[in-house]
Amino acid sequence: AGTMRLDKFLSGAGCGTRSQVKDFLKKGRVTVDGEAVRKPETRVTEGVSSVCLDGRPVRYVSYEYYMLNKPAGVVSATEDRREQTVLDLLPPSPCRDLFPVGRLDKDTTGLLLVCNDGELAHELLSPRKHVEKVYEVITDGSVSEETVRLFEQGLQVDAEWKALPARLEITGENASRVTLQEGKFHQVKRMYASVGLKVMKLKRISMGPLSLDPALAPGESRKLTDEEVALLK
Ligand code: URA
Repeated sequence: AGTMRLDKFLSGAGCGTRSQVKDFLKKGRVTVDGEAVRKPETRVTEGVSSVCLDGRPVRYVSYEYYMLNKPAGVVSATEDRREQTVLDLLPPSPCRDLFPVGRLDKDTTGLLLVCNDGELAHELLSPRKHVEKVYEVITDGSVSEETVRLFEQGLQVDAEWKALPARLEITGENASRVTLQEGKFHQVKRMYASVGLKVMKLKRISMGPLSLDPALAPGESRKLTDEEVALLK
């Protein structure tokens, strides 16, 4: 558990700005483990010290962000009675309220952001934001130049749905890379299906400014660096 200054703890917990919090302290409104504390530099320990403002407990929530290289065969849910979930793959730790930001199909692999920051998740998933997602795709046949053009123009996937323009690059025989600016259910598979191609393998390699760390084997995860978190915000 992290130890930090009391003023940082209080402002980090949303009690007010650093200067407001110093004022609360000066006025004796803050207790630590039952004792009034007036010094902002007092050290407290997250999850251990019992801090109250005006007699009400203050809970400090620290955000955590992980990138997971999702393997095939696990579901992007927080719980599932039968299936292994992406949360089962992260290091165990109590009460972190982690959840995956968006979903990948059970058979899809690659970059999945897992965090407890609802606001960030909302921003990244908002249809208005057009956050780009890049996928590497293996198909049962080859992508034609005509398909590249159709994707670029905005593919009419079915009677009700015209996809936003998507960048499609042919990267090899039966291999391509597609960049989407939206995230509809089974989007990649449905777009390829509508041009007669079956997706055999699907791997996400980036989401907005965040790219999958090539050092992560399937099933492995790591915390985002501070720089990566800053890029996302
Ligand atoms: N598109 C799909 O079809 N499946 C995914 O998992 C992600 C995007």
